[in-house]
Amino acid sequence: KSGFVAIIGRPNVGKSTLMNQIIGQKIAIMSDKPQTTRNKIHGVYTSANGQIVFLDTPGIHKPTSKLGDYMSKVAHGTLGEVDAVLFLVDVADGIGGGDRYIIEQLKNVETPVILVLNKIDLIQPEQLLEIITKYKDLYNFAEIIPVSALKGNNVTTLLEQIIRYL
Ligand code: GDP
Ligand code: MG
Repeated sequence: KSGFVAIIGRPNVGKSTLMNQIIGQKIAIMSDKPQTTRNKIHGVYTSANGQIVFLDTPGIHKPTSKLGDYMSKVAHGTLGEVDAVLFLVDVADGIGGGDRYIIEQLKNVETPVILVLNKIDLIQPEQLLEIITKYKDLYNFAEIIPVSALKGNNVTTLLEQIIRYL
């Protein structure tokens, strides 16, 4: 199995850290260069079960200019074309306006959206259920996977779940 996955989420939720964890330092550092092209490849993950091409999706934030507006449309096109969307959020930070804006954008997309609850190392395990319930009320996510991109917790499970959608 192989396919394309777009990674979205507001700044600082841990998108680059997750890519570091999955793919390794080298490619993630490359992806931190200024984004100039559409559908920039973050990296390619290959295992015995499948191959996942991770795409960076700049421009899924609230547009503040004509260019931003254009970027938004491009981002939206990408989300419709990939096999799955990974939507990263920061569980320690709560649901912010940036997250809500992205969720609004997702409502016009048919692609399955996997919600990645990142930074679980920063909360108490008992808090997780409440957080999951809050997100379930906002959108019909295909999967909800708690991880720590930094520590690597549950990242293997995330990869196995992604491969199911390719
Ligand atoms: P991006 O803007 O979405 O690419 O976010 P980054 O990957 O640059 O991460 C932003 C900050 O969050 C950095 O200081 C990371 O070390 C930190 N971070 C990312 N993932 C985790 C995590 O799972 N746990 C903790 N504690 N910090 C994290
Ligand atoms: Mg980044």
